[in-house]
Formats: sequence, structure tokens, C-alpha cells
Amino acid sequence: MLVSDLLLPGSNTWNAALIRRVFSPTDCDSIMSIRLPFCPQPDRRIWCGEKNGLYSVRSDYRLLLGSSSPNSDLCVFYKKLWSLKCPAKVRINLWKFSLNFVPTRLNLFMKHVSLIDVCPRGCGVSESVLHFCRDCDFVKAIWRGLNISLLVSANT
Ligand SMILES: [Zn+2]
Repeated sequence: MLVSDLLLPGSNTWNAALIRRVFSPTDCDSIMSIRLPFCPQPDRRIWCGEKNGLYSVRSDYRLLLGSSSPNSDLCVFYKKLWSLKCPAKVRINLWKFSLNFVPTRLNLFMKHVSLIDVCPRGCGVSESVLHFCRDCDFVKAIWRGLNISLLVSANT
């Protein structure tokens, strides 16, 4: 259905009877409160996150941060993350880890993809993101090898 389908034929006014028949009262009120342009315009998709109406990932990201996570610490974290001077694939993977959006054994188990959630490196515990990144003995050895003791010392 197009917006033009909701207008009275040959006019630039809402077809209130049709709108009331098709939409819920709340949606009907919302639609009827939209001011129509003086001159009829062809229908087109408009992204509300940008003034020009064109979609951008940046504005989508801004909207998501504003609507679902009012936590300013989280905003600061993501600003720092996206401003890191490193390859984009590193930033994207860090972002996925921060959202627990990686196929760890535990995540695969929780989604019924795998029957086991235990770390494949013989730790005997569930392979969560924290275990994969910080607590696994195998990973701790890697961190030590990279001389990044701050992360390892948090849990040793
Ligand atoms: Zn492990």
C-alpha cells in the first residue's frame, strides 16, 4: 500500500473513511496528523534518522544507542571502539564480542546448534565470551605471550 492509496482520488487530503477501516485507532490518528505537502509528491521511502531521508549506518547506530541503551558509559565505550586506529575487521570483531554475538560453544548450545558447551581446549567449563577472551588457560598463555598482563591479571 502506498501513501497515495490513502488519499481521496484527485485531491490532496486523507481518505479518513479508508484509513479508519484499515488501521487501528492509534495508527489512524498518527496517519491523519501527518501534514500532506502542498503539491502532491510521488511516494518514496524516507529514513527518519537523517535530514535528507537517506539511510546511513551511522544514523541507524545513533538511533539504536539513543533508544535502547541510555547508558553513557556504553556510548563512550562504543565511541572509543569505533575510533580505534586499527583495521575495520578488528573493530567489528570487538563490537561482536562486546554484544556476545560470536559463536562460542555456550552460545551455540543456547541456540540448540551444539549439544556441548564445554571449552574445546580442555578447561572443563562452559565456553562463554569471557572464558574465550579472558579466562581460558590457552588464551591466558596467548595474552602473556603478547605481554598484555593487565587483562590476564584481572582473573589470575
Ligand atoms: Zn578454555
